[in-house]
Amino acid sequence: MTPLAEKLARHIRASGPISVADYMAVCLADPDYGYYMRKAPFGRAGDFITAPEISQMFGELIGLWAVAVWEMMGSPRPFVLAELGPGRGTLLADALRTARVKPAFLNAADLHLVETSPRLRDIQKEMLTPTGFPLHWHNQVEDIPTGPAIIIANEFFDALPIHQFQWSNGGWSERVVGLTADDQLGLGLKPVQHRKPDVPLPEGAIIEASPAARAVMKTIAERLRRDGGAALIVDYGSAEPTAKSTLQAVRAHKYDDPFAAPGDADITAHVDFSALARSATAAGAAVRPLMRQGEFLIRLGLVERANVLGRGKDEKTRNGIASGMERLAGPKAMGDLFKVLAVSAPGLKLPVFDPIETGTRP
Ligand code: SAH
Repeated sequence: MTPLAEKLARHIRASGPISVADYMAVCLADPDYGYYMRKAPFGRAGDFITAPEISQMFGELIGLWAVAVWEMMGSPRPFVLAELGPGRGTLLADALRTARVKPAFLNAADLHLVETSPRLRDIQKEMLTPTGFPLHWHNQVEDIPTGPAIIIANEFFDALPIHQFQWSNGGWSERVVGLTADDQLGLGLKPVQHRKPDVPLPEGAIIEASPAARAVMKTIAERLRRDGGAALIVDYGSAEPTAKSTLQAVRAHKYDDPFAAPGDADITAHVDFSALARSATAAGAAVRPLMRQGEFLIRLGLVERANVLGRGKDEKTRNGIASGMERLAGPKAMGDLFKVLAVSAPGLKLPVFDPIETGTRP
């Protein structure tokens, strides 16, 4: 048992089983043993690798998108440039580098990072201090100062806790984490009162809900409606929920049982984009149809960017660039599984998502 499993077992013995959402939150954020609190999870040596760590082109293209959005917003100065869950800070570093094509954008940008892990804040500080920007960290989205904003979140929402409800024997139960007969952590069912499904569900169907994700989306949507701006949310998930558990743990680049090693594995769930879109719409923001990551990057100029980067380089470097492009945009890699949700103030036109007649196209 990991130290966190022992801590959880003591808690469950004293107070009873906990929801999958509480389990997830503790696994990621327990102050002593939480995954993001003590491990350096990203990159080849870590447990998993994210798009900005695969290729600099990911952050670069998002930087160009942000510059174009800022111009569509009427070039406000100052404005908030925020990232939620910046990891190692790589995306922002790459984005700010390409944004040098528009010095006025850089002069107007106030950088705000939402990050709960002190360990990752240190890594972000090291990565982003050379940019020369004053850096501001916050624990939650509510704390980002008001004003027009461009908000980026890559693989942030998948880390927000989900509840799981299971349809079995003609009723709903919440899936909870308790103790097995031999004192190991294991899943159980706790009956809950909830109305019957509108459509017949197969026995054992699982519905997931993330009040935390919906609340973050609502906060973002309200501020965009009020103060202007746009948010770009990139993550894995499907347009509609699938009635299966999407809870997953990854350790050393392999899928692991989510209950095997709490605190030692990254634990996430697929993002329910339909729920995020509903919550943003309800808060008065404008939501674009979900786009696949591959299509988004290609429309932004991924192929052209790869050509520019590879020009005059040796074969090994060119192959590396091509394989990065394939991993980011290929249908068998991240291109189809990862989706991009764009949300904005009503009336704002967004590059890539909306037809734009004049103005710059990145
Ligand atoms: N965007 C980065 C890292 C993704 S991992 C990349 O693409 O490489 C998830 C990030 O979100 C980490 O930085 C983690 O510490 C942060 N995070 C997770 N849950 C959070 C929460 N509830 N509040 C703030 N940050 C959170």
